[in-house]
Amino acid sequence: MTVREVLNEGSGRLSEAAIDTARLDSSLILCHCLNITREKLFASLPDDVPDEALKMFGKLIEMRLDHHPVAYLTGTKEFFGLPFHVEEGVLCPRPDTELLVETVLSLTEKDKALKDVLDMCTGTGCIAVSLKNSDSSLNVSASDISPVAEKVFSINNCTLADGSINFTKSSLFEKIEGTFDIIVTNPPYLTTGETEERMEEGWKEPALALDGGNDGLDLIRIIIGEAPDYLNEGGYLLIEAHPAQMESMKVCMESEGFRDIAVLKDLPGLDRVICGRKGPV
Ligand code: GLN
Repeated sequence: MTVREVLNEGSGRLSEAAIDTARLDSSLILCHCLNITREKLFASLPDDVPDEALKMFGKLIEMRLDHHPVAYLTGTKEFFGLPFHVEEGVLCPRPDTELLVETVLSLTEKDKALKDVLDMCTGTGCIAVSLKNSDSSLNVSASDISPVAEKVFSINNCTLADGSINFTKSSLFEKIEGTFDIIVTNPPYLTTGETEERMEEGWKEPALALDGGNDGLDLIRIIIGEAPDYLNEGGYLLIEAHPAQMESMKVCMESEGFRDIAVLKDLPGLDRVICGRKGPV
C-alpha cells in the first residue's frame, strides 16, 4: 500500500468513529510509524509503506479508536512551537493553554522587573518550558503533585530548557517556598460529573489532572486563597479555566484583594484565562 492509501484508510476509519481530527490524527500516527516529519510524509505519498510500519499503524489506529489521544500514541505533542514529550498519566498539552504563555510573556516584556514565575500543576511542563524557552532571563519554577508529571516534566525540562527549571513536588502550595512575580496555572477544572462522564467514554487522560470537584473550582479556590502569600506586591495570578467559571473566579479574586482583574479569550473566542494583580492600587 502507498502512503496515500494508508493515510486515507486510517482517516476513513477514524472519521467513521466520529473523530473530527481524523485526517490529522491519521497523518501524525503514520509519521510516527515511518519516523518522518509531516512535510516528508506529504512528499512521500506515492511511496510504499513497509510491512513493519503498516502493522504498527494498524495497531495505533485501533488504540486511537479506543480513545487514546494521539500524543500518547506518538509520545509527543507540539505546544508553543516545541515538541513536548507526553506519556499516559499526564494531561496532553492543548492549544488553548498557549494563551497563558502568551499572556505571561506580554506582561514580562512590558515590565522587565517581572522575573520570578511559578507554573503550578505543570503536568508535562508545557507552560514553564515554553516561558523559559521564549525568555531565558526569566527564573521559572514549576510544581505538580503527580509522580508521572514529575518524570515527564523532567524529560521536557532537560531536552527543551537545559534543565534550568526548578521543580517542586507539591500539593498546590504545600511545599512551595519563596514568593513570585507571576503565578500561572492550568489546574484541574472540570466538574466531577464531567470527569466521570469522560472516564465512562473511555477517556485515557488522568482524572487527577481534570477533576476540580463539584463545580470544578475546588483547587482554583485554594489557589486564589493562598496565592497572595506567595506573590510579590503587584504580582500577577493567571488561571486557565472553563468560560462558565470566570464569573465565580472573578468574585473570588476580588474578595481576596486582587485588582485589575481581566478575562482573556482563547483562539476560538471563549473566555479561557483570568488574570489579576495582588495588592492595593
Ligand atoms: N481544557 C481541558 C479539557 O476540557 C481541561 C483541562 C483542565 O482541567 N485543566 O479537556
